[in-house]
Parts: sequence; structure tokens; C-alpha cells
Amino acid sequence: MRDRVAALDFTKREARLASGERLAWDRLILSPGIELMRERVDGLQAAHAAGRVLQAWKAGLETAALRARLEAMPDGGVFVLTIPLAPFRCPPGPYERACLVADHFKRVKPKSKVLVFDANPEPVSKAALFRSVWANQYAGIVEYRPNFNAVAVAADGRSVEFELGERERADVLNVLPDMRAGEIAARSGLATAKDRWCEVDFLDFSAKGLPKSAGVHLLGDATWPTRMPGYRRPRRRRVTRRGGCTAWRRMPSALRPWAERGRAARRQRRVHRFRRPRRQTWSTWLAPVWPPAGTR
Ligand SMILES: Cc1cc2nc3c(=O)[nH]c(=O)nc-3n(C[C@H](O)[C@H](O)[C@H](O)COP(=O)(O)OP(=O)(O)OC[C@H]3O[C@@H](n4cnc5c(N)ncnc54)[C@H](O)[C@@H]3O)c2cc1C
Repeated sequence: MRDRVAALDFTKREARLASGERLAWDRLILSPGIELMRERVDGLQAAHAAGRVLQAWKAGLETAALRARLEAMPDGGVFVLTIPLAPFRCPPGPYERACLVADHFKRVKPKSKVLVFDANPEPVSKAALFRSVWANQYAGIVEYRPNFNAVAVAADGRSVEFELGERERADVLNVLPDMRAGEIAARSGLATAKDRWCEVDFLDFSAKGLPKSAGVHLLGDATWPTRMPGYRRPRRRRVTRRGGCTAWRRMPSALRPWAERGRAARRQRRVHRFRRPRRQTWSTWLAPVWPPAGTR
């Protein structure tokens, strides 16, 4: 079905679609992704609407447009990438992007530079790895500057201003603003963590703040990245998939009868295990002859 969800009614357990159709649910699995908070950087909304500053943080036309700009940039140009405070979609993503662009520059435009301005005190993912790659493979191309929080972009989209008043000019500017859970989650009151992310019970990925009977499960980047003991949840595709599996396993068997069949088969196997003969060991082989009769 190709449509958008316009509203969710948790009491009636019903989704209203943009086409006007209504869908009732037994279980609702919501994975609405993220929204970019462009309004948090002065001038970014307007610069983006005019096509002067791109984010390319949701795959599609913008990604291709950013690539075209980098290809059109003259040798000796500067690509500026700004990173917001964590949490944001795909923690290694911005640092990977810096490497990809640097790789392109190294091969095609060796006089160009990649300037990375990070609002965080260090790369929020694989810090040692990225720092070593920049120092060894892309020395003189990538410059990484921590603790730089972008607060404004110029109307022409060619420069960015930071919290402490510094400015940087760019030939291609890629400003990543703060992010939050997708619009539909926020509008439905599911973004309970700092008004930005959706809190879930990680045992079944059900939405916190709603009764379990509402049957609402949240997955993916929209969820609040809580640390579980011994397991850090980065916002990556793998996590969305794993979350889906967990929610699926926890679903009542009425919704997935084949799982019930599997369970019945496992029960059957357990019964058979009791009937199997005892495992043979040295002592069971020797039992008839050892220890010799009379010494037992
Ligand atoms: C540059 C970059 C590189 C990345 N590289 C990797 C990588 O190498 N490996 C990896 O594992 N992850 C990577 N990721 C992260 C990965 O893309 C995300 O973690 C993953 O896409 C999250 O899935 P999601 O379902 O939460 O959101 P999305 O993939 O954004 O899906 C959300 C979907 O919901 C739809 N939607 C939203 N609202 C509504 C509505 N009201 N009605 C109907 N539909 C709606 C949207 O249209 C969208 O299709 C990368 C991300 C970026 C930005």
C-alpha cells in the first residue's frame, strides 16, 4: 500500500491515512525515521529551501545533488561539513562522509580540503579509527575541529557561523542540524525523551507512555538510544532489523501461527530427549566387567 499515515488514534487502535482511508490494527509497528531540525540553525531553512545548502541525510535526490556539487567544485575548493551534538542518525555517518569526500579529492582534486566541524568533543563513533585514517591517509586534506557548534548559515549558503562567533567560508557547505524522531511519532505524542526521541521498552520495543494494550511498537532511528547493559545501540540499519526481530518474536502467537507450530515441534523434541538412551561413556562401556566381580 502506498500512502502516508496522517494520524494515529491509540484508543481506537486506528490509523488515518492521507487518502482518508482508516486502518485498524492489532499491532502497530512504527519506524518513521528522523526529522531534521533545520529551524535550530539560523538561516538554514531558507538556504535549504533555495537549494543553497544541502543536508543529504535522507537518501534520495539530495544525495545525488551533493555529489554533483562536489564534482563541480574546482580543485583547491573547500568542503565544510558540520556535525550536531549526538544523538543523531548514524553516528559514524558524517565521519564516513568526510573520508569518502577526502578520497575523491585525493584522486581527482588534490588541492581541495575537507573541514569537519563537530559540536561533540570527539568523533562520536570509532574515534581512534577515524583520527588515524585522517592523519595517515588523508593528511593535508581532512581537518577535524571538535567543539564547533554551527548556529547560523549565510543567506548565500557559502559560509557558516559557530557558537563562539567564528565563521568559515565554503565552496560546498553540508550542515547537519539536530535531529529528532519522525514527524508522525512526534505529532502523536510518542517522542517522550527530551521531546525528540521515542522511548521504548527494549524487551518488546513497545512504546513507553502507552499501555501495552495499545499494541504499539517502535523501531529504528526514531527510538531513544538508551544503553542496555553490555550492549550499545547505535542508530543503524542493523539495529532497526534486530529490533524488528525482537518485536516479532514477542508478538502473540495468534498473529503468527507458524511460530506456534515451531513451538509445538520444540516441545515434541524435548519429550524425545527424555526417551533417548543414556549417552555412552567409558564407565558405561566398562560397567559389565569393571570393577571385577567380588571387589564391587
Ligand atoms: C549517510 C548515511 C549513511 C548510512 N550508512 C549506514 C550503513 O552503512 N549501515 C547501516 O546499518 N546504516 C546506515 N545508515 C543508517 C540507516 O540509514 C538508518 O539507521 C535506517 O535507515 C533507519 O531506518 P528507519 O526505519 O528508522 O528510518 P528510514 O529508513 O528513514 O525509514 C522511515 C520510513 O518511514 C516513512 N515515513 C515516515 N513518516 C511516515 C508517515 N507518516 N506515513 C508513511 N510513511 C512514513 C519514510 O518515508 C521512510 O521511508 C546511514 C545513514 C546515513 C544518513
